[in-house]
Amino acid sequence: MEEAETLGQSSGEPKTAVGVDLGITRLATLSDGRYLENPKPLERSLERIRLLQRTLSRKRFLSNNWLKTKTKLAKEHEHLKDFRRDLFFKLGALLAQEYDLLVLEDLDVQGLIQSGTKKRRLRLHDSSFSELRRILEWEFLKRGKLVLPVPAYNTSRECFLCRGINQNLTLEDRVFLCPHCGFTLDRDLNASLVLLKRSGWVPPSVPAVKLHPIPPLPALGLVERQGGAMRQEAPPFMAG
Ligand SMILES: [Zn+2]
Repeated sequence: MEEAETLGQSSGEPKTAVGVDLGITRLATLSDGRYLENPKPLERSLERIRLLQRTLSRKRFLSNNWLKTKTKLAKEHEHLKDFRRDLFFKLGALLAQEYDLLVLEDLDVQGLIQSGTKKRRLRLHDSSFSELRRILEWEFLKRGKLVLPVPAYNTSRECFLCRGINQNLTLEDRVFLCPHCGFTLDRDLNASLVLLKRSGWVPPSVPAVKLHPIPPLPALGLVERQGGAMRQEAPPFMAG
């Protein structure tokens, strides 16, 4: 690994590394087999926003009812933003406590946002990806740990085992099946392992990796402060 390619100041050679695949169905899938779903409150908030947007479109522009709905919509957006940031900081803290090196796709967020019928739904997600990346990076860098972005090209379609490409994999396929060697693994877990491999890190042997959810993050007691209110130190580059 070239030192010049990594971000941050290392206090020594990293001893542990994790590849993280970010996605829409599953927020994050780690190369150690753990994953984090989009939590239910977040999904509910997204659903409320969709409904409010629909309601708003049926109101007369600048009428009282339009303004009321517009205000509700703004509040819901604010709520969603706070919830996400809180979750992202907790995930970042968790990972940065356990690992010395974070390996991420060097995105192009647009690569995740496929065209088609799902486009509207996905638009609500896309801005959050870049924020999630910034927060994860921040949590590592402030601890003096390393972040290594690796090329994103074909990470979902590449076989972790033989590096063959599955050209027919679609966004709907949750399982990666290699047409070359027959290797079969959860789609996102395969992608996170491919990322780790691209970083030059020797990945864990696959049979040792089992897919399992990260427990609800508040239960980890990582950042519960000030009577339950979540106060986070904001990265300097996130102002505004
Ligand atoms: Zn293969």
